[in-house]
Amino acid sequence: MKELNTSRSQALHERAERLIPGGVNSPVRAFRSVGLRPLYIARGQGGHIWDVDGNEYIDFISSWGPLIIGHSHPLIQEAITAELANGTSYGACNEREVEMAELICSFFPSIEMVRMVNSGTEATMSAIRLARGYTGRDKILKFEGCYHGHADSFLIQAGSGLATFGQAGSAGVTAQTAENTLVATYNDLESVRRVLDAHAEQVAAVILEPIMGNMGLVPPQEGFLEGLRALTSERGVLLIFDEVISGFRAARGGAQELYGIRPDLTCLGKIIGGGLPVGAFGGRREIMECLSPLGPVYQAGTLSGNPLALSAGIAMLRQLGQADFYERLEAKAEYFEELIRPVLERYADKLSYNRIGSLSTLFFRSGGVASNADAKASDTGLYAEYFRLMLAEGIYLPPSQFECMFLSMAHTEEDLQRTAQAMERSLTKLFA
Ligand SMILES: *Cc1c(COP(=O)(O)O)cnc(C)c1O
Repeated sequence: MKELNTSRSQALHERAERLIPGGVNSPVRAFRSVGLRPLYIARGQGGHIWDVDGNEYIDFISSWGPLIIGHSHPLIQEAITAELANGTSYGACNEREVEMAELICSFFPSIEMVRMVNSGTEATMSAIRLARGYTGRDKILKFEGCYHGHADSFLIQAGSGLATFGQAGSAGVTAQTAENTLVATYNDLESVRRVLDAHAEQVAAVILEPIMGNMGLVPPQEGFLEGLRALTSERGVLLIFDEVISGFRAARGGAQELYGIRPDLTCLGKIIGGGLPVGAFGGRREIMECLSPLGPVYQAGTLSGNPLALSAGIAMLRQLGQADFYERLEAKAEYFEELIRPVLERYADKLSYNRIGSLSTLFFRSGGVASNADAKASDTGLYAEYFRLMLAEGIYLPPSQFECMFLSMAHTEEDLQRTAQAMERSLTKLFA
C-alpha cells in the first residue's frame, strides 16, 4: 500500500489539538473510528478534494451531503460573489428569504409555511418545540439509530428492560429530558404502537429520518412510513420527517415525495445551504402559525435567513429544479452500482449493500441490513481497514461504517471507474 505523505495535516492537527477539543469542531472528522489522524482539506473542485499536502482524492463525503453538485460549482460561487458585493448580513428582512421560502414550498407540497435557521440541529430542535407548543404535550418519540443533531432531547438511547422512556446518550443531558424522549425501533410499527399506547395523549410528535442515513443507509420497509402516518394521525400526534439528508437528495421533494407520505412538519438542512450553514423547518400552516410573532412558540436567530448563505442555497435549489436532474443522478448511481456488482457478488457472504439514489452504504456483514440492529452487527474493524486501503488509493470515503457514501452530480464516469477498481483491489486484499 502506497504511503501518503500527510505531514502538513499532522502538523496542523498537533496545533489544533492544543486549542480545540480533539482538534476538531465535529467529532466524526477526528477519524478515530478508522484509527487515523484527520486530513486537513485545502480545496475542492467537482468530485475531488486536495489536502494541505497536495494529495488528491475522489470525495464521497460531499461535505456530508450538501455538495450534491460538487465542490466549487461555478453557479454557486457566482451567486455568493454577487451577494457579497452588497453586504453580508443586515439582521433585517431581505429578498433572498422570500425567494427561498417560495422554492422550498414549491418542492415540498407538505410545507405550507417555512422558517429558516442555521443548521439541521436548529431545525429539529425548533420543530419539536413547535410540536409541543401546538399539541400541549411534552413527550416526543424517536427511533434508535436515527440522528437529529445534537440538541439534548435527541441524545437519548433506548431505556433498559421494560422502560419505554429513554436514557441520556451523552453526559450533560438530564434524566428529566431523557424521560420526555421515548424510543422505538425503526421499521417496527408494533414498537411504535406499544410506546404510543403506553403514553396515550402525552406524545407531541414522532420524529424520524424517513430514510435512515445515520446508521449507514437503512431504507424504510414497505408500509412502515404509511403505518406511522396512520398511527400518529389516529392519536393526534404530529409526524415530523427529518429530511436533513434525504431532502433534495432522495428526490427533489425528499423521501416524502419518493414514498408519497405527507408529514405534518419537515426539517431540512445540508443541501439547502449549498455548502453554507442553513437549515429550515416547515409544514402545515395551522401549526407554523403558532410561531412567534404570530403565536406563543418562541424561535429566533440573529443570522437566520442570512442573505449570503441563502444566495448559495437558492443557486443550489435552482440547479436541482432542472427537469431531469434526479433522473441523471440516478443514472450515475446506477452506473456505479453496475460497476461494483461483480465484486459485491463475489463477496456476498461478507458484505451487504444498500442504495437509494445517490445515497449508499457498503456494510461489512452479510445477509442484508434492514434495521438499526443489523447495521450495528457490522464488522467495524474490517470497515476501518477498508477505509484505509481506499484512502491510500485516493478515494475519500466516510470515516465510519455508520455514515452514507454521497455520490454527487460532479463525479465523472472516470471517477466512478477508478473508485470501482480501487474497491475491487481493496476488498480482494482485505478478504485474501
Ligand atoms: C446532519 C443531520 C442533522 C444535523 O444537522 P447539523 O447541520 O449538523 O446540525 C440532523 N438530522 C439529520 C438526519 C442529519 O443527517
